[in-house]
Amino acid sequence: MRNPSSSHKRRLMRQLAYAKVRALLDELIHELAPDGRCQNPICRRKPRKYPLEIHHLDGRAWEPRDLDSLARVKRYGDEHAAGVRLAAWCRPCNAADNSQVRSRMSYEQAARIMNKRRRSRP
Ligand SMILES: [Zn+2]
Repeated sequence: MRNPSSSHKRRLMRQLAYAKVRALLDELIHELAPDGRCQNPICRRKPRKYPLEIHHLDGRAWEPRDLDSLARVKRYGDEHAAGVRLAAWCRPCNAADNSQVRSRMSYEQAARIMNKRRRSRP
């Protein structure tokens, strides 16, 4: 058999890494939502297009996009083991909640800036 090219090898490694991450994530999601439904009590839908996602019920102080996918799924596992309240939510629920947090934060930031301007006025 011909030696696989290095780009072919790289692609295989990427696929393997992705499969590992997906398996870890699926295991955690299955534990959080054995019925495969969004655990948001006002939703409870079974997602068709995207798999369920990890949702932090009490918010989180870190950005998932700051970690690579394996580090992220390991952090979820550590948090779950440490008793951080996680839930499996569908993508629309998770996105809606995160955007609420974002808009609330930007509102607070805007209020702080407005207050600072008001105070610094002569
Ligand atoms: Zn949902």
